[in-house]
Amino acid sequence: MTATDAQTEHTASVDGIAEQLRQAVAGGLTRPRRYREQQLDALVRMLLQNVSLWEAALAEDLGKSEVEAHLSEIAFVVSDARLARRSLRRWMAPSHVLPPLALQPALARTVPEPLGAALIIAPWNYPLQLALAPLIGAIAAGCAAVVKPSEVAPATSALLARLVPAYLDPRSVRVVEGAVDETTALLEQRWDLIFYTGNATVARVVAAAAATHLTPTVLELGGKSPVYVHRSADLRAAARNIAWGKWLNAGQTCVAPDHIRVDREVAAELVDELRRATAEQLGDARTSPDFARVVNGRHLERLRGLLPGGTAVTGGEHDAADRYFAPTILTDVDEQAPVMQEEIFGPILPVLPVDGVDDFIAATRDAPKPLALYVFARDRDALARVERETSSGALGRNVVVAHTGAPGLPFGGVGASGMGGYHGKHSFEAFSHRKAVLVKPASLDTLRLIYPPFDQGWRKE
Ligand code: NAD
Repeated sequence: MTATDAQTEHTASVDGIAEQLRQAVAGGLTRPRRYREQQLDALVRMLLQNVSLWEAALAEDLGKSEVEAHLSEIAFVVSDARLARRSLRRWMAPSHVLPPLALQPALARTVPEPLGAALIIAPWNYPLQLALAPLIGAIAAGCAAVVKPSEVAPATSALLARLVPAYLDPRSVRVVEGAVDETTALLEQRWDLIFYTGNATVARVVAAAAATHLTPTVLELGGKSPVYVHRSADLRAAARNIAWGKWLNAGQTCVAPDHIRVDREVAAELVDELRRATAEQLGDARTSPDFARVVNGRHLERLRGLLPGGTAVTGGEHDAADRYFAPTILTDVDEQAPVMQEEIFGPILPVLPVDGVDDFIAATRDAPKPLALYVFARDRDALARVERETSSGALGRNVVVAHTGAPGLPFGGVGASGMGGYHGKHSFEAFSHRKAVLVKPASLDTLRLIYPPFDQGWRKE
């Protein structure tokens, strides 16, 4: 078989998949709460019974340590699934509102109903979490779904393709592996929701495909999430927290601090503290079991190309053979250089001086709205002003990245960083339609006063 034949066969195998899944939902398969609970239990079993396989796949794709694989992928998904499992009865319950007097007697309620067949397209940086966390929302809401993992994390993609059908009901959940051709074939079909996580360029392709069928989309994108360090901040604590959030997964985190703007008078001290925190946390990063690898040679090259945008005060080394890129702090940064024009998405941290909170706020206003924005300060006024006068998917005050671990908070972007949110109940809501239901008694026709002919009623007066 030639490569083209194999391709054709693969894309042919997805023909009609959206319709099959929609029929499964329409036929009532996914509707009962018990079914959803069983599927969520099966998803948890799939993770917990195969921990070493997931760890091995994540290590192969991204060099993730076991602890990191647990915290940010396996345990993260398990706890989100368990939360959905134990909350499902409450989430599925209708919520009642009081209808206005003119409509009474009546009952009014909103009833969550499954949107239908969903397409979930996942990226490579958290290849397990970002494929399965949306799936939890789909299952909880009573939807059927195709999960399309990223081809850029092939080991995790292959494991998902092997284990998902072994644990979850293939009548309602499928995994389709592949790259552009397969995703294009999927996008041509009519879905009831497309949930895409990844970069903004492909998001436009997804949104255009969705427009053909007027399909709603959730777009989880990225951008340059800035950090502002005010002169009143606890520089040591700030540096430790920023270093953790930046070097996590070798900077390949959508909410990673992209760059720091720091009040000029404390800039040098912050850089010293960042170097110290990096050394404390990772030692020699190259041999540290706790420092991940860049996903592939193409991304390593891309990162190498960002280095001339500043002076590396620490790091800068890289080794393509090992996909290693050292934790790198840049100073004397050129605002016009690519490192300040595109999302870094790797272990390079530019540090730029600013002259106070006004200067920082002005810089964010000129930039597209980021997925996250972080501010470190003890000064309450500085914290409050940043919260009030900037816009971002999320805001961290004296903390980076950790908001993703609070399931009560919706996780998502605004403007260029995306639309829609999920995690916890928000995932259930993302895959549900809130149907409005008004209930009147069968025979008590209280609305007859507003029926025509209008020339004899109260409307004439
Ligand atoms: P990627 O290259 O894995 O692409 C994402 C998905 O899009 C993959 O499944 C891929 O197969 C598919 N795809 C690629 N080209 C396509 C095309 N032409 N048509 C249809 N589908 C196509 O991942 P990426 O985009 O490099 O991911 C990194 C980006 O994602 C960063 O910008 C990051 O900030 C963002 N991100 C956002 C979140 C979030 O939750 N908001 C999470 C992770 C990553």
